[in-house]
Amino acid sequence: METYDSPIARKFAEKFPKSRALYERAKKVFPGGVTHDVRYVHPYPISIDRAQGSRKWDVDGNEYVDYFGGHGALLLGHNHPAVVEAVREQLSKGTHFGASHELELQWAELITQMVPCAEKVRFTNSGTEASLLALRVARAYTGKSKILRFESHFHGWHDQVAFASTSHFDGTIPAGITRETTRSVVLCAPNDLDQVKQALANDEDIAAVIIEPTGSTFGQVPTGGKFLAQLGELTTQHGVLLIFDEVITGFRVAPGGAQEIYGITPDLTLLAKAMAGGFNGGAVVGRADVMDVMTVREDSQWNRERRVAHQGTFNSNPICAAAGLATLKLIASTDITQKATQNAETLRNALNEVIREQGVNWLVYGEFSGFHIFANHENRDITIEDIYSNRVHYTILKGGTPPAVIFKIRAGLIVGGVDVVAWPGGWVSGVHSAEDIEETAAAFRQLLVMVKEEALLV
Ligand code: PMP
Repeated sequence: METYDSPIARKFAEKFPKSRALYERAKKVFPGGVTHDVRYVHPYPISIDRAQGSRKWDVDGNEYVDYFGGHGALLLGHNHPAVVEAVREQLSKGTHFGASHELELQWAELITQMVPCAEKVRFTNSGTEASLLALRVARAYTGKSKILRFESHFHGWHDQVAFASTSHFDGTIPAGITRETTRSVVLCAPNDLDQVKQALANDEDIAAVIIEPTGSTFGQVPTGGKFLAQLGELTTQHGVLLIFDEVITGFRVAPGGAQEIYGITPDLTLLAKAMAGGFNGGAVVGRADVMDVMTVREDSQWNRERRVAHQGTFNSNPICAAAGLATLKLIASTDITQKATQNAETLRNALNEVIREQGVNWLVYGEFSGFHIFANHENRDITIEDIYSNRVHYTILKGGTPPAVIFKIRAGLIVGGVDVVAWPGGWVSGVHSAEDIEETAAAFRQLLVMVKEEALLV
């Protein structure tokens, strides 16, 4: 049995009585006391009461600099006035028409202007739904049955993608997923072009290759533009579709996502998070001829045998469309993605400065508006350059840090007024300020001091 108990956890336990009381209630109705696995923190998660800009406040009245950013959806920060206004206006007109409406059209038209591969758009409710749909579309279009994906890359929680993505890198299968499902997936190690070459040469039944274009979990295991270009060439050569999962990177690393940055246009792309401005929403976008496998024809044989059916009660409902459209208009017309990228770089530098000052062997790295905290609990001799030259095995970078260490980092930072994601790391928005970054560096310093006092992890 692992123990999560520590002086940091004990300090945490004293500080948030109202969150604790809510967690006691939550445990009775939610399995594990939470509604999303990564929202759990030991000894209990904080409950948030309200948020604004780069900050949020818990039920005990504590203030946080927020790097959870609505799981990456909030590139513009919490409650951006343009988004709030668009939603307010739409609320007065109706929340669900069960019909087509012009807002969804404007939203999709803007997406086709911004995202290079997006000739056509089909909205979904989430990134997971987009992933499920894209894989089905790829199979239907090509008439092939398998998908090639990369170990540690995350494409949502449905069965075809929920093994060897966040855990189980040893070939075992997480509970609830059948061996049969895993047979429709060909796994390759991240950044291993030879493995992809071999797989494509030996197996003619591969419909598509799917990848997080900046590397798994926003570049926790980075992938460069060179690999993407080589992958693009290989997939074209073999007549296999290339799918970019831009659920995180879309509209965040640049208005046109990673495909704009690297100049590589995939056949299909998954979008979600930032796309819907903090509301639920996702999309599959891509080549018109591929997307048109969803089109109903006056041809009953086509409809029955070749067409992909797709439904979803809340697809592009007017509220999400209003929020998404307002958000994308701002992203398209301002330098907010660049600001988020700059803010993250300033933050990464500030945290690495604290690491040097405290003399610990940790690293903070990342690209664009992301950051990853590598606590180096086994005290390896690793530099940031090693990570970017793919000299560090992916299982060390992703899933390699024990939960007990991650809980300590998260709890220690929460005590200091900073909320990060369980990678551990986070998403920086375009509205994080110099003051936010200073306060984060102070909380990080306090965390490292506490960690050193525990004589662990250094
Ligand atoms: N793909 C990636 C790269 C993601 O990061 C996520 C969510 N973290 C998803 C897919 C799934 O999106 P959702 O949570 O909206 O289902």
